[in-house]
Amino acid sequence: MKNIFLSNLLIIALISCQNQATSEEETNTSAKIEESEKEPTTPEATEVWNPKPPVVNVDPQTNIPSDAIVLFDGSGFEKWISSVDSTAVKWTLNPDGSMTVKDKTGDIQTKQNFGDVQLHLEWQSDPGSSASGQNRSNSGVFLQSRYEVQVLDNNENDTYVNGQVGSIYKQSIPLVMAAAPTGQWNTYDIIYRQPEFDEAGHKTKSATITVLHNGVLVQDHYQIEGTTEYIGWPKNEPHGEAPIKLQDHQDQSGVSYRNIWVREL
Ligand code: MG
Repeated sequence: MKNIFLSNLLIIALISCQNQATSEEETNTSAKIEESEKEPTTPEATEVWNPKPPVVNVDPQTNIPSDAIVLFDGSGFEKWISSVDSTAVKWTLNPDGSMTVKDKTGDIQTKQNFGDVQLHLEWQSDPGSSASGQNRSNSGVFLQSRYEVQVLDNNENDTYVNGQVGSIYKQSIPLVMAAAPTGQWNTYDIIYRQPEFDEAGHKTKSATITVLHNGVLVQDHYQIEGTTEYIGWPKNEPHGEAPIKLQDHQDQSGVSYRNIWVREL
């Protein structure tokens, strides 16, 4: 009887110790939460010193960031292939450091695959073109070979607005029309985040795109619906990293490109 009484006492003591420890932990945790939620009272309390962002220098002559991959600087097509058959590019290399779409030779694409990028390029519409609508200096920049930022000469040349210059073709109308006059050089600065797919191949996150046209915001973190389609709705087949593609619209577009570089994000 005495033994049972003693062992019961021991159990009660142990349980009491455990409860005390749990309640001390809870007190500590809630104190920490309260501490972190408390309004800081010094400037230092809200300063973060590490990790430090990598340093990027911009070349004062070319304006190219030091961590960029130069895709085209006018010296040749080493970074590109024909999209038709993966052979050498047949577009025209010009003495002024630009290239021009050679009609009906097909799109060209980077040899390298890309995911999230910051992309810079410059393009020029054909000053001699007398075509109209979608046939005047039509080209395009395809992110991951699938999603087109439209290149078109819309100076006094109307077309459907979700297919005009600066549009995400057939998906997103540009906020403004910021094109340079016909025959002058334009810049595109594009920030692109690739879509995500689950193991079953369903899209779990849309690609997003921001486009500055001549420094002016024309696409503001737009969520891309799916692939660029001329006819039909956007599609969403799963894919990984893929080349950047430039379009031969196959109608004597005469569009030229120069100074193309990309930063992987
Ligand atoms: Mg196009």
